[in-house]
Amino acid sequence: MLQQTQVSRVLEKFEPFIERFPSIEALASADEEDVLGEWSGLGYYRRARMLHACAKAIVDRHDGEVPRDVESLMDLPGIGRYTAGAIASMVFGDREPLVDGNVTRVLQRLHNNPNQQTDPETIKWSWERASALVEASGDPAVLNESLMELGATVCTPKRIKCSVCPIAEHCQALSAGTTESVPPPKPRAKRKELFCTAVLVTDPEGRVLMEQRGSDGLWGNMWQVPTMETEKAPMDVLEIGEGAALVESFVHQTTHRIVRFDVYRCQSWEQREGQVYLDEDQIGALGVSNAQRRILSLSDTLFT
Ligand code: SF4
Repeated sequence: MLQQTQVSRVLEKFEPFIERFPSIEALASADEEDVLGEWSGLGYYRRARMLHACAKAIVDRHDGEVPRDVESLMDLPGIGRYTAGAIASMVFGDREPLVDGNVTRVLQRLHNNPNQQTDPETIKWSWERASALVEASGDPAVLNESLMELGATVCTPKRIKCSVCPIAEHCQALSAGTTESVPPPKPRAKRKELFCTAVLVTDPEGRVLMEQRGSDGLWGNMWQVPTMETEKAPMDVLEIGEGAALVESFVHQTTHRIVRFDVYRCQSWEQREGQVYLDEDQIGALGVSNAQRRILSLSDTLFT
């Protein structure tokens, strides 16, 4: 939950999630819809789907016990080398390394390695360096946690706090005066634009028309008001329906996309297959992205 998500937001969601799914078996036997519902508001819903698939695989292949070795862990859905290393070292105390962006940056500065952080060669080198350190350490969990924490709080990308760094005397970048340029800044990939036209339609009881997205891609399986997506330009008001009126436009940014929403209210909407009118309680139990929550708050009847 904490990956790319603020602690304050996770604190609201963690306890209810654990209460609803108190064991691997409970999570494995739950419907994906319920898992997404409890995850609602945390964003990056792929994590919830992977966690659910992972729990199922642990029950199916390992009788509900989390496997200990890195290879079996990496065979589970959603678990890569980093997470496998974290589980093996921090849960089981095994001498397994762990490398993420923070750890790579610390290691590069420690050895004054000036290469691009995301180069395959640099990544390979980081795993080798991290392996050597974990082998030599007294406690693999403490070593791994320390490297990550140092990168997150002291050896940060900017405003580096070398004056309080516990390993400053060993740091080659500090001696060479290259801490600001090692590692070099990442070249930024241009984010793709997506135009979404969302339509708020209410019935006489004040319920809002909703639909479920397909399982692929951005916000897979999440619920939304009827929303049309285009890549080149926003839809014209005339294409939406009679009496359509623009309520608000806003921009929602994800890691790879800039999503531009136009939200319309529409009086004469022809209900399509799969679209259902739902009230606030029903919608509250579903997985709904933050962008769609914002849209729902614009309805006259719900979440006001
Ligand atoms: S001395 Fe500075 S650059 Fe070197 S590891 Fe510590 S915080 Fe990072």
